[in-house]
Amino acid sequence: MPLRKFPLEKEKSMSRKSIHRLLLIAAISYFSALAAPVLAQDKPVKTPEQQDAENIADLVLANHIIADQGVVDGFGHVSVRSVKNPNHYFISRSRAPALVTADDIMEYDLDDNAIDPRGRSSYLERFIHSEIYKVRPDVQAVIHSHSAAVIPFGVSDVPLKPISHMGGFLISAVPVFEIRETGGNETDMLIRNKALGAALAAKLGSGSVALMRGHGDVVVGRSLKTAVFHAVYTEQNARLQAEALRLGGKITFLNEVEAAKIGAQNDVLVERPWEIWKNQAMSHAAQK
Ligand code: MN
Repeated sequence: MPLRKFPLEKEKSMSRKSIHRLLLIAAISYFSALAAPVLAQDKPVKTPEQQDAENIADLVLANHIIADQGVVDGFGHVSVRSVKNPNHYFISRSRAPALVTADDIMEYDLDDNAIDPRGRSSYLERFIHSEIYKVRPDVQAVIHSHSAAVIPFGVSDVPLKPISHMGGFLISAVPVFEIRETGGNETDMLIRNKALGAALAAKLGSGSVALMRGHGDVVVGRSLKTAVFHAVYTEQNARLQAEALRLGGKITFLNEVEAAKIGAQNDVLVERPWEIWKNQAMSHAAQK
């Protein structure tokens, strides 16, 4: 009977569709399983040696970037912790950051002994780096600079606070290191020994930035790129805050929630400015 035949055919065709769908799913699963090891091979796990080699290449770039962005001039330095030996770090020999090459990069232990100095001289203030790495296992990179715009905030009682979203990481009170508390009234202002380095590291606490009265600042990051990001935007935030203060009215800073929400994105956000800062630094170097 035609009326009974029609629904039967419909059922048949639906079940055929279901079988096709099942076959399709099975085929996708099968080929996905086949492809999985290939995809895994595309992203091989890097050895600590390979990661250190990449970090050293980025360290050379970081030197050029912080010089190009006006964070450092002839002075200042940037370091990165070793992945292979977390009790070691890499930093240039004593040289202006804009001129640093891979041959200048030296390895130090946390007692500031150079592993293979080959006659190369060390930065006088390297204790800043070693003493911070000792007490901050989360920190993978340290930058010390004489970042000009932060100096006024280190010598006055006006605190540096996040004025724009890019400075959100400044939300926890930015401490000011007073060298006279540890070194007395007759230092040359430089962190030239372990005791001064340890006092600066203690002042930094768990934060990202500490200002150094009449000297500059130290910034840290969970990665080299994050430290560079912090260094550039600390300088920029200080400049913008000083401009806002000159307007004379009431200033509205970021609140804790705003800072936390933007701060949570920083590890991803750093990639974009890093790429342009790198290109600019390289093209400026090529023009010199
Ligand atoms: Mn200095």
